[in-house]
Amino acid sequence: MKFKIKRVFDKKEEIVEYEVPLKEPTLLEALEYVKIHIDRTLSFLSGCRSEVCGSCAVLVNSREQLSCAYKLKEGDLVEAIRHGEVIRDLIVDIQKPLLSIKRAHAFLEDFKESKITKEDEKKIERQSDCILCSSCFSVCPVLEVNENFLGPFSLTRVYRYVNDKRENDIKTKIDIIQKNGIWDCTLCGECTAVCPQGIDPKNDILMLRVKSGEFGYQDPNFSSFDNFGFNPNF
Ligand code: SF4
Ligand code: SF4
Repeated sequence: MKFKIKRVFDKKEEIVEYEVPLKEPTLLEALEYVKIHIDRTLSFLSGCRSEVCGSCAVLVNSREQLSCAYKLKEGDLVEAIRHGEVIRDLIVDIQKPLLSIKRAHAFLEDFKESKITKEDEKKIERQSDCILCSSCFSVCPVLEVNENFLGPFSLTRVYRYVNDKRENDIKTKIDIIQKNGIWDCTLCGECTAVCPQGIDPKNDILMLRVKSGEFGYQDPNFSSFDNFGFNPNF
């Protein structure tokens, strides 16, 4: 089976074709074959090999996939995920996506002691399954034009903590995501489509918009229009 990899070294790019004598391999198995038998300089990341650690996300034919789960097909083109600096070949610096968690305050802000029931756990279960693979960050079109956009998985995490009974300061969370956050999202749903964990960042962003309304915020794209749809600035 033949497939191609966009190799990157010293910011120079080259598409190289490889042939692997494997039957229905996962992409990760094919990458490992290339590294062991053909070219030891090939660089990529992997960890758990079972769709849990999220470290092996790449683009296959421009779509985000986990290498350990994706079944390689003849002629596939594999390259590094987007919106992070490529360090080498398929390895991307994920500092930027990870820092967005900090910028979005996607953590417990002000802990308060609370009894957590099974029902409470259910409310945040799905969002807690995020494996930080950055696939949603890679596919998001807003990050093409606004590198400060907080991005889907950070906003999903904010929603997770907004729904956490132990959070005592929901207002700060809601305040922080007004800029470069929930209103910048186009609701295209691409993040939801690529998530290997079945998380729905688009819906979580929508729910955060509803929650923001409870705190007196409104969509800034419409705030300059009066009740009749006229923009008083014109
Ligand atoms: S729905 Fe929003 S966050 Fe998700 S990919 Fe589209 S623009 Fe980005
Ligand atoms: S929300 Fe889904 S796609 Fe995004 S980082 Fe988490 S697991 Fe990956």
